[in-house]
Amino acid sequence: MTRTAVTDADFYLLEQSLDDDGRQFLRRVREFMEKSVQPVINHYWTREEFPFDLMDGFRGLGIPGQLYQGYDCPGGGYLLDGMIAMELARVDPSISTFFGVHGGLAMGSIFLCGSEEQKRRWLPEMARMEKIGAFGLTEPDVGSGVAGGLTTTARRDGNEWVLDGQKKWIGNATFADYVIIWARSLEDDQVKGFVVEKGTPGFETSKQTDKIALRVVQNAHITLDGVRVPEENRLQEANSFADTAKVLRLTRAGVAWQATGCARGAYEHALAYARQRQQFGRAIGGFQLVQDLLVKMLSNVTASACLCARLSALQQADLAEDHHSALAKAFCTVRMREAVGWARELLGGNGILLENHVGRFVADSEAIYSYEGTREINTLVVGRAITGLSAFV
Ligand code: FAD
Repeated sequence: MTRTAVTDADFYLLEQSLDDDGRQFLRRVREFMEKSVQPVINHYWTREEFPFDLMDGFRGLGIPGQLYQGYDCPGGGYLLDGMIAMELARVDPSISTFFGVHGGLAMGSIFLCGSEEQKRRWLPEMARMEKIGAFGLTEPDVGSGVAGGLTTTARRDGNEWVLDGQKKWIGNATFADYVIIWARSLEDDQVKGFVVEKGTPGFETSKQTDKIALRVVQNAHITLDGVRVPEENRLQEANSFADTAKVLRLTRAGVAWQATGCARGAYEHALAYARQRQQFGRAIGGFQLVQDLLVKMLSNVTASACLCARLSALQQADLAEDHHSALAKAFCTVRMREAVGWARELLGGNGILLENHVGRFVADSEAIYSYEGTREINTLVVGRAITGLSAFV
């Protein structure tokens, strides 16, 4: 028997939690992503290029700054911000990452760790995307252990700071106007944040090539060789790694939404495929084992989205702590990795062809799984919270 299909992956109607303006905003993002990004993104992915020709379109959407009130930011709130991240990722995880780095990590560093004057100076132009930001924390030899292990140094010299060291994996950094560099002060041994402007002497970037995931994201290896930064570019409220961690708490929640979007995109492609692909004289979606894959995918997407929505509510109420974001990031990325694998399986051989999109989600999910704290590290954050015992060392 054929019935009307519930093809909407917003299975528990979470979009209804947004107000009319929020829903309209989300629809505009969806329309742009489906009409302007989806048809061309595989081309950029193959070439490891960023679609700079779409930048005016991205600007027109007015996405950055949903999390921040004031400073010419749209301030739509945590739920809308998260649902936008999901919406972007459901078409392309690289584009979602581009916005996550700019609007989350870079603008979030300034919003949470900058002085009032610094916020007024940088946030409005970043919200308008006249200037693009990046966030440089990870180093070639220091990833999970950044809290205690940063080797990039900052030496005070009068009214300036001199930065020396290297950074690895820094998204957007090949073209960003502002790169937030986290370095250990030789004065007090604490981690501090610096806004390094494009073109500063001694600051060099080289693009990381041959990635198998998020190939549209422009990641850079950065060398800092005696880079001089004025004191007014030091984030005035970043006094130790605890302040850096506030930024990660904010953005890990965004990555959980992003993972949910990546899983959702793969599920939606798989569902459409299952309804039209014929084998044994009927649509494969009519086979019980195929339905099992689809329902498992939808369960993962739905559980992740509901978890993220609750986390957004906690953030909105100022109740979210590190372990809340860490649990969501770990849980949703694991569920994503399962879901994209099942989607690939459902498409059979066609699942490995880029033109069917699911293969790109499978590859991209590997980077989302590991960045902004691996599953192990986020698990240790939650483990410490629930036992009161740190297992980090
Ligand atoms: P490692 O820290 O070397 O870890 C290797 C393995 O060991 C992992 O499985 C890890 O979980 C495990 N491990 C480590 N310590 C422990 C422990 N104590 N207990 C158990 N297991 C442990 N960084 C930025 O600063 N800015 C960016 O814009 C940025 N963008 C990125 C984009 C991409 C595509 C990628 C892949 C990474 C990006 N990163 C960025 C870096 C990212 O945050 C790190 O890759 C991540 O934190 C993990 O560090 P690592 O890769 O050095 O792995």
